[in-house]
Amino acid sequence: MNLHEYQSKQIFAKYGIPVPRGRVASNSDEAKQIAEELGGRVVVKSQVLVGGRGKAGGIRLAKSAGEAQELATRILGMEIKGLPVRRVLVDEAVSIEKEIYLGITNDRASRKPVMIASSEGGVDIEEVAARTPDRIIRLHIDPLLGLREYQARDVAVAIDLPKEYWRQFMTVAEGLWRVFVDNDATLAEINPLVITKEKRLIALDGKMVIDDNALFRRPDLAEKRDLDVEAPEEISARKYGLSYIKLDGQIGCMVNGAGLAMATMDIIKLYGGQPANFLDIGGGAGAEKVAAAFRIILSDPNVCAVLINIFGGITRGDEVARGILTAIEEVKPKVPMVVRLVGTNAEEGRRLLADADMITAETLAEAAEKSVAAAKERCNQ
Ligand code: GDP
Ligand code: MN
Repeated sequence: MNLHEYQSKQIFAKYGIPVPRGRVASNSDEAKQIAEELGGRVVVKSQVLVGGRGKAGGIRLAKSAGEAQELATRILGMEIKGLPVRRVLVDEAVSIEKEIYLGITNDRASRKPVMIASSEGGVDIEEVAARTPDRIIRLHIDPLLGLREYQARDVAVAIDLPKEYWRQFMTVAEGLWRVFVDNDATLAEINPLVITKEKRLIALDGKMVIDDNALFRRPDLAEKRDLDVEAPEEISARKYGLSYIKLDGQIGCMVNGAGLAMATMDIIKLYGGQPANFLDIGGGAGAEKVAAAFRIILSDPNVCAVLINIFGGITRGDEVARGILTAIEEVKPKVPMVVRLVGTNAEEGRRLLADADMITAETLAEAAEKSVAAAKERCNQ
């Protein structure tokens, strides 16, 4: 889950990382009010969860509160990369001497968090990484020991930061490390971290990604989720506790268990088809959850056939069948459906589905073969 810049910077501030004074506004009058409080010279920043807002015209400097109001009106009417701008952050303008990059993320290969820094921060950091990779410094952090003081100093040296800034830099680096750990982040990033003309280090931009799997213990963070960036199907899947990932194929899959779902996708490919999604309805799913899953699958216009593969353990075949019937009633699907149901109460489930005009299969291979054939026929490929 991504946090907005203003949310990340509020967290940064709690951990002692200096950020510009400022507040978020949802209309231009509020923006003007904030700009007045800050003395007029401000930067008006669109709060949308995409990169490159600056280049898209979503970040503008204002010399007066009146101008801030005008810019806010304009920016609040914008769409950036398909996302509507609903809020702007109004920050005091800062005079920039130099822009630095500082971030922490997980390095899967070394199984450790890694601090990434560059003297060439700012809007072109991707280009710096591609063209002059030696300008990007990486330092692994032992998760048990945390970021040590000498390590932060080493990073400061490696990015050629003048000595007079080392102390400030260490405060920022140490703060960012604690932000990363305390909030179950998978990314905590400051780009740019600027040296101002007044010789201060300030986080001008902030980005945080929170691990979705940790949100159950972070209700304060979970409530910050911005639903604009998510597909409606994914929102609905989360509400019902389903693991759903949309893919590009034509065969919708409804499966219980992540491993079985992976196997189902593999075997669809083996028979020459492509899965339209990964969907794990989980163990013990009842009729309501199954119906929700079915609606989600069928809302994808690419789906030419549905493969339902249920291995009943704690999940009961009759419950699954009832869920399917409820959903069929509601959605009236036009695509062929193949069902393979085995395990607990499978017989009863099959009996319930007998009148439902479904293709049945005994084995997974047979189910995959039939759904690939049905999908091809339906969408004539
Ligand atoms: P991004 O484009 O989405 O990464 O947004 P940023 O917050 O990083 O802003 C992009 C660029 O706008 C920064 O790299 C700065 O060069 C510039 N900028 C942002 N805030 C200020 C400010 O207060 N003063 C000045 N002079 N430039 C700013
Ligand atoms: Mn930035």
